[in-house]
Amino acid sequence: IDRILKRQAAGTPFFSLEFFPPRTDSGASDLMAIFDRLARGRPLFCDMTWHPKGDPSNTDKPTSSTSMAGNMLNYAGIETMLHMTCVGLNTEQMKENLYKAKNLGIRSILALRGDLPDGAEEWQKTEGGLDYAVDLVKLIKEEFGDYFVICVAGYPDGHPECKSYWEDIQHLKDKVDAGADLVITQLFFKNDTFLKYVSDCRKVGITVPILPGVLPIQGYKSLSNMAKLSKLEVPKEILDAIEPIKTNDIAIRQYGIFKAVEICRELLNSGMVPGIHFYTLNREKAVTQVLKELGLWSEKIQRPLPWKQTANHNRIE
Ligand code: FAD
Repeated sequence: IDRILKRQAAGTPFFSLEFFPPRTDSGASDLMAIFDRLARGRPLFCDMTWHPKGDPSNTDKPTSSTSMAGNMLNYAGIETMLHMTCVGLNTEQMKENLYKAKNLGIRSILALRGDLPDGAEEWQKTEGGLDYAVDLVKLIKEEFGDYFVICVAGYPDGHPECKSYWEDIQHLKDKVDAGADLVITQLFFKNDTFLKYVSDCRKVGITVPILPGVLPIQGYKSLSNMAKLSKLEVPKEILDAIEPIKTNDIAIRQYGIFKAVEICRELLNSGMVPGIHFYTLNREKAVTQVLKELGLWSEKIQRPLPWKQTANHNRIE
């Protein structure tokens, strides 16, 4: 968080990248190669999402969120944030998972409630578990003090389950008052929506950095899936633009890059964002090009490759 605040004060924008855990072992090795290549652009941090079903045994598998976050940090040398939700876990299991993350050297957690399980009409906490993300923030603070930087989720269009936009902002304020250091937002399609949200958050006294979550459109299907998952409507202007090219992956990706660059430029020029958070969907090409066009990609300092570091450290002189 100190690095974010420093970059914010100096007016030098940064970027961060979000990934989800792979489904297979070969997916895991592909993702490791992607981390390695994207690390060259020097993201300020990267994050690994938590499996929506929140299977507690998940953390021990090599392809789990925790293992992949550990690899991102310890193999690729990237500052790493691990998402955690309250789904399907009691507080003891949550603490156990937090200790696993700590043992891997992870210093940042995105504390979430998590989505409703499939088919559920309304949220019900797990027995012995927690109600809301704010309770997870409190649990982390109680158990670990200031060890973890805590990030929470914000919703520029309002959270779909909340009765009102302002009530949801108040719930965000509760998370910040409980100790969250940073907010990352849900994706949004119009910059005005995000910028209004930031000024409304400031009005109620939320002062921590708010990072916009930006999704470079990479395909018709992935856009529909993300919109469905986030319960957002894709604006007609975007649908009209991609409908005629929906079977042409290259054309749709070019449109996505053009649109993401336009959105990010405007956000960076607004002076209201310290950096941009990208939903990568575990793909590297589009996001790399967007970063290069924005001038955020920086390969000036070559990161020593991890195996070279190990070789040097182990060498007997
Ligand atoms: P909360 O902040 O707890 O809010 C949930 C709802 O309850 C909101 O409507 C809120 O207004 C309301 N509320 C909060 N406090 C109270 C209260 N005291 N009384 C009454 N109502 C209250 N999901 C995953 O499964 N894995 C991930 O890795 C993941 N990563 C995400 C990353 C980002 C940046 C974002 C924006 C979302 C992510 N999600 C993820 C989705 C997220 O889990 C869902 O949006 C979920 O429905 C809400 O989580 P939350 O942490 O915002 O919940």
